[in-house]
Amino acid sequence: MVKPGADGERVRAALVALGAWPTAVVDGGRLAFVLEPCSTAVPLDALRAVAGVDGVAAPREACPLVARQAGQPVVVAGVPVGPGAAPVLLAGPCSVESEAQIHELAARVAAAGGRFLRGGAFKPRTSPYAFQGHGEPALDWLAAAARAHGLGVVTEAMSERAAERVAAVADLVQIGSRNMSNSALLRAVAETRRPVLLKRGMAATVDEWLQAGEYCLLHGAAGVIFCERGVRGFDAATRNLLDLGAVALLAHVHRQPVVVDPSHAAGRRDLVAPLARAALAAGAAGLLVECHDDPARALSDGPQALPSAALAGLLEVSR
Ligand code: PEP
Ligand code: MN
Repeated sequence: MVKPGADGERVRAALVALGAWPTAVVDGGRLAFVLEPCSTAVPLDALRAVAGVDGVAAPREACPLVARQAGQPVVVAGVPVGPGAAPVLLAGPCSVESEAQIHELAARVAAAGGRFLRGGAFKPRTSPYAFQGHGEPALDWLAAAARAHGLGVVTEAMSERAAERVAAVADLVQIGSRNMSNSALLRAVAETRRPVLLKRGMAATVDEWLQAGEYCLLHGAAGVIFCERGVRGFDAATRNLLDLGAVALLAHVHRQPVVVDPSHAAGRRDLVAPLARAALAAGAAGLLVECHDDPARALSDGPQALPSAALAGLLEVSR
């Protein structure tokens, strides 16, 4: 709100000089400026100190709990992920296919400097005829393999029924893209108090994604790590359209922990490394990558699986 009689143009220029983008509105007959969301974050005290300003109202925060975790990493199994922490590699097969397979890949992920072993036991597949995961036994194989190699466990919970069982083995519980807006599932997973890896819905806006994160924190999740995995684009030349603008926005403006899954974004292994480099440059706090050493026989997502020997170079750009 501008003081009665003050020079509105001067107030506007002072706000612009602070990095704000003010739009003039008339509120109850008085001149006021609304600061557009693309404004640089200016502390309220600095706004109040502008000559001619008569009162500053902060907008109601849509996601206060998400805002509260801004600027700090989420610590998962002792590993910080997010602002201020070194980028981390979370890697493993799309699906946990057998006890032997997951032990072999755990060794390779650990050797490549990965900190977390990923692998699906319950698989959200587009076709009901596609492999749906080995279910509960796979959770135990995954956990044993990760522990044997000093890795944390990331795996997906697809149903409220399985939330507790998944959280009993997972250090980080994944919510898949197809379930980002399933608020009952978000709540059931959050109530286990584990941190959540929240994949962006394939057609979700950034606001919807942040609000899904708010659901998790409201219901008890120890933290939320956002994961961009590509959105449904107009062009199927790549499997999905990796939205690196959203990654930069979350990392640099919202200052949230955000990791990138270049595997599901690319849908093909030759694009995984270049997208990973771009993701780290945009501010990603880590990479979630699928690998397999016999991709032709993979039970899911073979075309995008990297050979495990290619994992070691992925974080190089950040060093
Ligand atoms: C996955 O990570 O295996 C997966 C199914 O991913 P998304 O939910 O992003 O499709
Ligand atoms: Mn997959």
